Amino acid sequence: MRVGHGFDVHPFSDDDGRLLVLGGERLPGERGLAGHSDADVLAHAVADAILGAAGLGDIGSHFPDTDPAWEGADSMGLLAAVVSLAREAGWTVGNVDVTVVAEVPKLAPHRSAMEANITAVVGAPVSVKATRAEGLGSLGRREGIACFAVALLERT
Ligand SMILES: [Zn+2]
Repeated sequence: MRVGHGFDVHPFSDDDGRLLVLGGERLPGERGLAGHSDADVLAHAVADAILGAAGLGDIGSHFPDTDPAWEGADSMGLLAAVVSLAREAGWTVGNVDVTVVAEVPKLAPHRSAMEANITAVVGAPVSVKATRAEGLGSLGRREGIACFAVALLERT
């Protein structure tokens, strides 16, 4: 077994037309995150945790944000590609644990949907927890959303 950790952060976008996507859930009416892909901070942290556990580098090395191919990309698709890379290297996902740090929006209503979306892609139990930065620092000033993830991989 191997364990990996992932961290990601994205600032909120100034573009009113930008959609907020978290854990594969589209949250219309909420302020979107800035980024080259769909900026799904949760999917990116999970992907990095899996890559880290498998010793396969990080998401930026596989899907560079300078590559036009990934512009506006569906990050759940990137996550699926990462799971495939890990499988090819002889690893299967055991479980994933995620902590999202966000002052806004309230994520509790979307938690089980995000867990189900990520479970469908990684093929393992996923737990998503949400916490607030209690007004401290950039996250507390509602300037963006951060996410931590831990993934356990098992030899297939
Ligand atoms: Zn990201």
